[in-house]
Amino acid sequence: MNNDIERVLYSREMIVERMNKLAAQLSTDYQDKRPLVISVLTGAVLFTVDMIERMDIKLQLDFIDVSSYYGGTHSTGEVKLVQDLNSEVQGRHVLIMEDIVDMGRTLKFLVDLLKERGAASIKVCSLLDKPEGRKVDIKADYVGFNVPNEFLVGYGLDYKGFYRNLPYVGILKPAIYEN
Ligand code: 5GP
Ligand code: MG
Ligand code: MG
Repeated sequence: MNNDIERVLYSREMIVERMNKLAAQLSTDYQDKRPLVISVLTGAVLFTVDMIERMDIKLQLDFIDVSSYYGGTHSTGEVKLVQDLNSEVQGRHVLIMEDIVDMGRTLKFLVDLLKERGAASIKVCSLLDKPEGRKVDIKADYVGFNVPNEFLVGYGLDYKGFYRNLPYVGILKPAIYEN
């Protein structure tokens, strides 16, 4: 699996160090808010689990699945709700956990949906942000790392469902998705 990676961008150690800072900040900001943490399946699951175990506050966790990528390296631009939340959103302080924000369409879809459902506040925490990829005007409030415009895998991010279990984030060799 490691042979398919061109270059490691963020090692497990770098990710942990960054998460410790982010989680401390979130613990302060959400101290008395009992947030509903919404993890976006499937890519954000590893990040979410590692983050919430570092957050020393009362919180609840739920999952939502939206799809826009359909397994390739380019999005179709269309976002669909694949699996809904179990929780009531009305009046809740919602914290969306994402793996990466690229065009921003996935996030925009989610934020609009949660607004419609009456969330008291909506913020976004994303492990990675690809600002150059942005097509719609939206931003993450808490970001692990700003990344270059390359196709990344690992630590939750996949190519056709694979590579999510790499303990680091790296650039996939173009040869893998070109053939
Ligand atoms: P967008 O912001 O373009 O609407 O979509 C964000 C979603 O596209 C992410 O949650 C992720 O699933 C996928 N995505 C965007 N950039 C990358 C990337 O570099 N690598 C992988 N594996 N997925 C990506
Ligand atoms: Mg995602
Ligand atoms: Mg994907």
